[in-house]
Amino acid sequence: MCPASVGRFAPSPTGRLHAGSLLAAVGSYVHVKYHGGQWLVRIEDIDPPRTEPGASDDILQTLNQHGLLHDGPVLFQSQRSEAYESALQQLLNQDLLYPCRCSRAQLLEHARLHHYPMARSLCTGTCDVRGATLTSADTAWRLRTEMAGEIQFQDALRGTLTSSLHQEVGDFVLKRRDGLYAYQLAVVLDDEASRVTEVVRGVDLLDNTARQCWLMQCLNFARPSYLHLPLVTAANGQKLSKQNHAPALNPNTPSRNLWHALAALGQTPEPALLHASPPEILAWACANWHPERIPHPDSIQQNCYLA
Ligand code: GLU
Repeated sequence: MCPASVGRFAPSPTGRLHAGSLLAAVGSYVHVKYHGGQWLVRIEDIDPPRTEPGASDDILQTLNQHGLLHDGPVLFQSQRSEAYESALQQLLNQDLLYPCRCSRAQLLEHARLHHYPMARSLCTGTCDVRGATLTSADTAWRLRTEMAGEIQFQDALRGTLTSSLHQEVGDFVLKRRDGLYAYQLAVVLDDEASRVTEVVRGVDLLDNTARQCWLMQCLNFARPSYLHLPLVTAANGQKLSKQNHAPALNPNTPSRNLWHALAALGQTPEPALLHASPPEILAWACANWHPERIPHPDSIQQNCYLA
């Protein structure tokens, strides 16, 4: 037993939980409980225009109905501005952050002229924002990446992954032009504040991990371990997501939902467990967890997994 293990589930309250989000909730829960650790829930409500009224309560209630009980208080990102602002100030003092007012069109043109990958968002250097402060209007703040070198991290299913962050991504935004904090900043600071040691989440977020590792390095934070789970896709190949209006989980069939989530994660629950209670199913899963069996093509079709 390792009491220091801490895992988390960090949904954005943009809609109700669906079969794909349940996979991340169950995977993160069982993985950390198997290691004798604690499981936390964080509501990622840093983007008010995308937040759906009532979604946070609905998500928390759905987790409860599925027996997924969190160990500490729920953290709401909307209440963390002070911590985010003070980390930005620290990065600014370290000269790791700079203000930018480049438009998307300017960034794309700059990338084209320099033959950079289009995904790379390096400031053109022409926006020349003099005297900006962290509270200036209409100013994004970017983290420098030129000294990041090769970022290497381990994914429990995929082994060692490497990213040349500066070439592949460029200087990325930590505070947006509209004044909102970027996901990268919030996730790194919140995982550190909650002493998270096991990050288990969907593989759609894998692409962000090198950025987060670099930010942790800049802030001198310890790095958690990573396990990226397959995504559930609809029959048309689209990822199930709240934005695509994926059907919400049926709250009346929590055992069936859990059973199918475990089967989709490559575990082998007995058919009889379909009739067990959510706590019994989760107890079985924690005692019989085999992360190495999690499939890692990066997606699973929902109709296969519900078959
Ligand atoms: N809020 C993100 C989502 O709902 C998850 C962030 C994370 O796990 O790092 O997809």
